[in-house]
Amino acid sequence: MISQKFKELDLFIEYGVPAAQQEQARALVDKFSHDPLAINIFHSFYSTLPDAVEDCIEGLFLLEQHQGQMLFWVKTTLSSYFYMVNNDKAAYGGSQQEGIREEFLQFYGFGDQESFEKKFNNFSELAPYSPDFITSQVCPVCYCREGELHEFGCPVEVCPLCDGQLINCNCRFEQLGVTEITSDSQLDLFLQRAKKKGRITYDAASQRPAYPTAGNESKKTQ
Ligand SMILES: [Zn+2]
Ligand SMILES: [Zn+2]
Repeated sequence: MISQKFKELDLFIEYGVPAAQQEQARALVDKFSHDPLAINIFHSFYSTLPDAVEDCIEGLFLLEQHQGQMLFWVKTTLSSYFYMVNNDKAAYGGSQQEGIREEFLQFYGFGDQESFEKKFNNFSELAPYSPDFITSQVCPVCYCREGELHEFGCPVEVCPLCDGQLINCNCRFEQLGVTEITSDSQLDLFLQRAKKKGRITYDAASQRPAYPTAGNESKKTQ
């Protein structure tokens, strides 16, 4: 799906970016060709052009992350915009002039526009989002960082009870004494059990799917 979007970007850039800047636009896209978050932003922006004028993305900046949803500030030549992004898609979150969407503010725990602006009062001081983010520092599925807990339900999380894959092992049934899970409250109860045992935080060396798993002890939280 990412490679499909990546291919489509070529055409979108041809129609959406001023001719003199197309090379610059493509260079940035190429830099992030293996990053689904960035590709989803490029795809969403260049396929819709929020202000309906030719424009060019000059930089991506990661502001917040919560429950696998990443909030980006996207700097373009003419303006700048907010996007909420996950592995599957990017959702438009308003331009900097009009302010970030209310639902986004709530989701990331900002009471109002003012408290958001207090935290991010100078975008030019932010470090640009790096293509290394996906490759080295975070869980490739839920984007938690090293040493942090996965989003509950992330397929990379290791079960503290059996060392299997938490979303696939049989512990939930054994713990709850049932043969199927039919409600959220059952899942909550299982989450409590896993917490009590000590959920296992993300450790790239042992949990990244591309890495060998042997010989690495997983870290456990309290
Ligand atoms: Zn994860
Ligand atoms: Zn288990």
